[in-house]
Amino acid sequence: MSKGKPSQSIAPDLSRVHVVLVNTSHPGNIGATARALKNMGIPNLRLVDPRDYPSDVAMWRAVSATDVLERAKVFPTLVEAVADCSMVIGASARSRRMPWPMLSPRQCARHVLEEIQRATAEDSGQIALVFGREDTGLTNDELQQCHYHVQIPANEDYSSLNLAAAVMVVCYEVRVAMLEHAGETRLGADAPMYDPASEDEYWDVPKADGHQMELFYEHLEKALVAMDFHDPENPRLLMPRMRRLFGRIRPDSMEINILRGVLTYVEEHVRRANAGDLPDADNTGNKTPKDTK
Ligand code: SAH
Repeated sequence: MSKGKPSQSIAPDLSRVHVVLVNTSHPGNIGATARALKNMGIPNLRLVDPRDYPSDVAMWRAVSATDVLERAKVFPTLVEAVADCSMVIGASARSRRMPWPMLSPRQCARHVLEEIQRATAEDSGQIALVFGREDTGLTNDELQQCHYHVQIPANEDYSSLNLAAAVMVVCYEVRVAMLEHAGETRLGADAPMYDPASEDEYWDVPKADGHQMELFYEHLEKALVAMDFHDPENPRLLMPRMRRLFGRIRPDSMEINILRGVLTYVEEHVRRANAGDLPDADNTGNKTPKDTK
């Protein structure tokens, strides 16, 4: 691995990220955490003095992430669990007496990504995301072993999340930051997300061009006149408003073809009605030439 400054070109390697659960009571939370980690592509779990582990309950809750549990490392203390880490971030619902650098989950994800790049470029350092006990969280001593704290901005009336849910929120942000860094604006190959900024690339049919739009407005105006809806002698703002409406929508060329097909159909209908070639609206079967209406 080459040494040097962190560079944009280095793909974020989430295997440098370790989620550390401190003194967890409920093995179900350990299993649910393993599942959250696998969902988010973070492979490493460290357990500090878990109260009930190994456990079948943890395995059941991990579902298809039992491999994360099988690889999980158990440590007697937090100091030992983060000994190889160059960045340690502790998750806490409460602000402590002494102010500490506090990050949102999104800021936390950016710090994690920058540290992954630095650590990868220099080939040294792991990153720990530390989560506390279900009942009492992290002790002050444990929080002081962290470079940063991360707080999920939850409801002030009840800001303490379930442990595995808190892990999921923080790891989700790390994953999104990683995908954005990798230029994955589609956020997942099999479920492309709509992004107005790259709509042209996303859409299946090209946008109608200026020429097509002008032909459409011409056609629209002609059809509206034929329907007696629009009076060119007294146009008001009808056509500018139509231009503004369709300009906002930016139809694609197939949509414009469909609209023009509708207009042609309406024109034909009006022509036949005017020629007395259609049954009248109350279904009497009588022809209704325009001049008799
Ligand atoms: N009652 C404890 C919270 C325990 S929840 C307390 O008040 O500290 C278990 C763990 O989930 C916490 O130690 C913390 O790591 C994480 N957690 C829960 N809610 C969180 C939040 N809003 N922000 C950051 N971490 C949170």
